[in-house]
Amino acid sequence: MTSPFHERPFEQRHIGPDADAQAKMLAQVGYSSLDELTSAAVPAAIRSLEALDLPGARSEAEVLAELRALAGRNQVLRPMIGLGYHGTFTPPVILRNVLENPSWYTAYTPYQPEISQGRLEALINFQTVVSDLTGLPTSGASLLDEGTAAAEAVALARRVGKVKGGVFVIDADALPQTIAVIRTRCEPTGVETVVADLSEGIPAEVAERGVFGVLLQYPGASGAVRDLAPVIEQAHGLGAVVAVAADLLALTLIASPGSLGADIAIGTTQRFGVPMGFGGPHAGYMSVRAEYARSLPGRLVGVSVDADGNRAYRLALQTREQHIRREKATSNICTAQVLLAVMASMYAVYHGPDGLKEIALRTHRYAAALAQGLQQGGVEILHDAFFDTVTARVPGRAAEVVDSARLAGVNLRQVDADTVGISCDETTTAADLAGVWTAFGVHAAAGDLEALNSAAGEVLSGSLLRTDDYLTHPVFHGHRSETGMLRYLRRLADKDYALDRGMIPLGSCTMKLNATTEMEAITWPEFADVHPFAPEHQAAGYLTLIHELEDRLAELTGYDKVSLQPNAGSQGELAGLLAVRAYHRANGDTGRDVCLIPSSAHGTNAASAVMAGMRVVVVKTLVDGDVDVEDLTAKIEQHRDRLAVLMVTYPSTHGVFEENIADICAAVHDAGGQVYVDGANLNAMVGLAKPGRFGGDVSHLNLHKTFCIPHGGGGPGVGPVAVRSHLAPYLPNHPLQPSAGPETGVGPISAAPWGSAAILPISWSYVRLMGGEGLKRATQVAVLSANYIAKRLAPYYPVLYTGPAGLVAHECIIDLRPLAKAAGVSVDDVAKRLIDYGFHAPTMSFPVAGTLMIEPTESEDLGEIDRFCEAMIAIRGEIDKVGAGDWPVGDNPLANAPHTAAVLAAGEWEHPYTRQEAVFPGGLNPAEKYWPPVRRIDGAFGDRNLVCSCPPLEDYEG
Ligand SMILES: *Cc1c(COP(=O)(O)O)cnc(C)c1O
Repeated sequence: MTSPFHERPFEQRHIGPDADAQAKMLAQVGYSSLDELTSAAVPAAIRSLEALDLPGARSEAEVLAELRALAGRNQVLRPMIGLGYHGTFTPPVILRNVLENPSWYTAYTPYQPEISQGRLEALINFQTVVSDLTGLPTSGASLLDEGTAAAEAVALARRVGKVKGGVFVIDADALPQTIAVIRTRCEPTGVETVVADLSEGIPAEVAERGVFGVLLQYPGASGAVRDLAPVIEQAHGLGAVVAVAADLLALTLIASPGSLGADIAIGTTQRFGVPMGFGGPHAGYMSVRAEYARSLPGRLVGVSVDADGNRAYRLALQTREQHIRREKATSNICTAQVLLAVMASMYAVYHGPDGLKEIALRTHRYAAALAQGLQQGGVEILHDAFFDTVTARVPGRAAEVVDSARLAGVNLRQVDADTVGISCDETTTAADLAGVWTAFGVHAAAGDLEALNSAAGEVLSGSLLRTDDYLTHPVFHGHRSETGMLRYLRRLADKDYALDRGMIPLGSCTMKLNATTEMEAITWPEFADVHPFAPEHQAAGYLTLIHELEDRLAELTGYDKVSLQPNAGSQGELAGLLAVRAYHRANGDTGRDVCLIPSSAHGTNAASAVMAGMRVVVVKTLVDGDVDVEDLTAKIEQHRDRLAVLMVTYPSTHGVFEENIADICAAVHDAGGQVYVDGANLNAMVGLAKPGRFGGDVSHLNLHKTFCIPHGGGGPGVGPVAVRSHLAPYLPNHPLQPSAGPETGVGPISAAPWGSAAILPISWSYVRLMGGEGLKRATQVAVLSANYIAKRLAPYYPVLYTGPAGLVAHECIIDLRPLAKAAGVSVDDVAKRLIDYGFHAPTMSFPVAGTLMIEPTESEDLGEIDRFCEAMIAIRGEIDKVGAGDWPVGDNPLANAPHTAAVLAAGEWEHPYTRQEAVFPGGLNPAEKYWPPVRRIDGAFGDRNLVCSCPPLEDYEG
């Protein structure tokens, strides 16, 4: 008897090509089995022989049942802890149609803007929300979280500030995790920080040391709302750059940081409809004075025009090509938090300024009534002016109060033995307040709410209040009904090309299946609604899942210990390099600061090395794409005493398994250096080879590449750092959750103890669904598919690099330079022309300019792979026609790509090719056509005329 359908191996759903297709592909590549192929592709010296020690595969139904059981072990209490994480109602229309909608969550970073107009519009809305509320004109499109945004503000202040040297002063009322993240980041680059009580200004003994920057928290962690204008003025008098960490919801009521004189505002947008999720993912934000736009970390979306002069969005300025700036980049951020930024922006679009203000007022009045009830009951409240957070003094009784609140189902913050913090949010109820009063032994009740509210009077007044307008743009006024909102979301999603339309063969990005079963659990309340600083016993399900995932990733990579805290690959890199640095220091090797990086490396590597206080020394690459061992040996010799680490990507960014990797690692170790293996390409190795076994001391992985977390249009991600045991004492830890890392750790690399915990169920499910054998097969098919494409395209485009057996790893680079040069066609033309054929372009010009890097992954079936190959072959034919002079260089289907419906319908057709050739090339079925909403976008025009928030109202007239 066959098993019921839902119990069939998930592997058959995850892996695109079935047995027949695999056989055909193997025949094309010239091997008789997957094992034979991968034995030839993966060097024998590094191949793992034993099977993975992982539990066997489970069916989708079984995995969902296991997740239910884990969820059942999390306890969801009323979240009144505060500290930057708050309860929020995610409007269901946004929950289902953004967070649970593959059109949004499977999209890629908008580097190809013509097929990304929907998410770019959502991000420009986000930038408008942030810049309006903070009162600073230029906002980026999301940072990783509030803590790292604060650390980026320190770096920005250092870049742009007038005071060279001096200290960075942090408000003692800043969030404790923010202070800790800043310290982790400042230590390696020698930036000195001072935490000081700034309520009476910057103390004289601090000012004397020279101050290049200041961070103020607004409202403070204690809840206090202060008029920041005087201290900002004082700081400016010292020549310092001033950053304000501000709560966006509070800013609907209180004066904006910009109006108070701040230069930078940072924070989180979590409480704009994004669940707490035990710490993340959420979108951090940063906005700045206009003159700092070029120094902004992360991505900035701007307005430009397309070939017809119509308005179009694209990434602006340096943020378009951040990855090639390497050590000159403004930060190491690559993957950010796009999906969560989209959610937060939509929350603002849906509620509008009036709705947001109402939510803020309600939140505030609950806090006011709460404080009034406590005061009437004889409890001392520490601050007169507050927004949502009340600090109560209960000498010697704080622990007892927090415990009894917990029994009433409410989590409070124990500040110290005498002090309790209580934060209200839009979900706070009268019953919650009653629970808090009871815990304090106060005799107020839910029914007293109205009376207490009136008795509380004005808590915020005068110069503390905001007087200017915000969110006046029509987009924040036109989508108030659910029908309207639903259609707006649909309209934007329809403009974009995501994995729900077709293949996204981006090399180095591993755009594979993000299975629905894997996504299911992340929005369950037992995972979504846990506060990151809730007591650990309330998160037992989460912690089991986290530890199991850590252990399984350790098994898969051959390392001893894994930390899931870094919330992107770039952050994993920094964490790994900080571990290396700490290890050398612990051995007395304080002079080891040289980081060797092959010239082909991903740009984040160099940027992270600089942040870790290292000196980047570039190692040459040979014409065949391998690391130049002679140059490497020379550089090792030259820097022998100062060598800290070699950072090498494996398989290389050229998509090749280098034969001599084990020797390279040994040479570095001989010189006393450590080996960092960038694990972003792990999809070529899972089950076949383990970096921790062939010479790596440390790696980061990208769970949003290899382990199925969707790209979300440019984030979220998780970048676990995996280390051998000698580096384990130096993994990240966290000041508020001691079990999140070793006591001897380097400090937190993210604001939350387990980073973006809420999306870990995705990777956990993937590993559980596939089992060891399934994971290995996925790798083998990924390698097969890449080689199949390389073989099919080789007659038309030279494949730039291959290993000794003429094989590539999980991706291949095709060289367009000779062809393009001869015909006068650019790699850009080919990428845009692929849109007409219904594809997202492969990775363009990385790691080699003028090339395309293609990574199909194991999830694309043979039909889609063939469709892609045929499109590429047809495009070769088009290039030849241009080359032969059949079509002029300036007017051909490549130069004019992509073609829109408007182009097709416009009056006379005056091109030397037909309308059919333009929009239905290669026999494309008109009924299945993806129509790009705009023509080719002029990036430079937008940089000359920088507009980074919603375009002005006049643009909407007519
Ligand atoms: C994607 C990638 C990174 C950076 O990862 P993010 O999560 O985007 O920060 C680093 N190295 C390589 C080789 C990559 O492909």
